[in-house]
Amino acid sequence: MKNSYKLLTPGPLTTTDTVKEEMLVDRCTWDDDYKAMTQKIRAQLLQLAHVSPQEYTAVLMQGSGTFGVESVLTSIIGPEEQVLICSNGAYGKRMTEICEHSEISYLHYEEAYDTIPDAQKVRHLLQEHPSITHVAMVHSETTSGILNDIAAVGEVVKEAGRTFLVDAMSSFGGVEIPVAQWGIDFLISSANKCIQGVPGFSFILCKIDKLMESKGKARSLSLDLYEQWECMNKDGKWRFTSPTHVVLAFSKALDELMEEGGIPARHARYENNNRLLIEQMQQLGFSTYLNGNHQGPIITTFCYPKNHSFSFAEFYAYIKERGYAIYPGKLTELDTFRIGNIGEIYPEDIKALVEIIASFLEEQKETRA
Ligand SMILES: *Cc1c(COP(=O)(O)O)cnc(C)c1O
Repeated sequence: MKNSYKLLTPGPLTTTDTVKEEMLVDRCTWDDDYKAMTQKIRAQLLQLAHVSPQEYTAVLMQGSGTFGVESVLTSIIGPEEQVLICSNGAYGKRMTEICEHSEISYLHYEEAYDTIPDAQKVRHLLQEHPSITHVAMVHSETTSGILNDIAAVGEVVKEAGRTFLVDAMSSFGGVEIPVAQWGIDFLISSANKCIQGVPGFSFILCKIDKLMESKGKARSLSLDLYEQWECMNKDGKWRFTSPTHVVLAFSKALDELMEEGGIPARHARYENNNRLLIEQMQQLGFSTYLNGNHQGPIITTFCYPKNHSFSFAEFYAYIKERGYAIYPGKLTELDTFRIGNIGEIYPEDIKALVEIIASFLEEQKETRA
């Protein structure tokens, strides 16, 4: 394969050859076999979320993950309503930007990037502000790699009788999320993260009664979640041209997830990759940005060793030449980089990566001496 290297990023990520091969055929969007595939995907997503088709439905939406988040925010919050956005990273903040653009009324509860949003603070905010009708937060904040406690916040949101939206983009499929049990009304994720498909659409798991209530509220034509559902729910036809090749690949990726042993098995693999990565990087002198127990199993933010004198560009190029692509940091106050361990990645990859990094550090020492 040309210029082949594996992606140690949070998506797009390394997919299997069998997933990529699915994209070698062309399909028409109104064909029965193709529409049946969309329906099969929707049913499998509900299964993975541990919800019943009587209570929940899955809607697929063209575009990357952000389009899915924007679709939900702009489709379900009416002009008299208000959303509380709990953030501790760039993706949480992005939800406030979407609200700004669409003139959706919001309150912003912001935590530091290494701190999880606190359920008791959310409880107080909901008591103080009866105007809040919806609460939104990110599960796995890919900015740092922190895993937020959506179960605790969901409980508070349910008690207060509000609607709960979760961006589970980089966790769904790789971390078990009992969607109904945790009080989630809308969960957003995308094709190219833990399910290990290729980029091109997002999907939204929706509590049916809440979705029905949103009819007519959408502020966008193409991102109208209710209309997309109404069309797709009839027979699996997408409202506008669907990303056919991506859908074929995703269907295969879902089957491969089931073959691997479902979310518990994938979670175990990711967690094992993550533990190994952190242990071995620490041995090389790198410390993790998060030093508590909220480090998630998806991606890790590392700080550079003390007194290093290399740039990220140099470091990145050296590693890429040897077969792996890592990710720059996304923190403003600290010099960091990130390594994702999701996708078709195994302990052998982690070990190979760490050896490459060790030899990079060794060469650095030699050139300085
Ligand atoms: C990847 C990701 C998104 C979506 O980003 P896109 O670039 O639009 O795919 C949103 N939220 C989180 C937490 C993510 O990791």
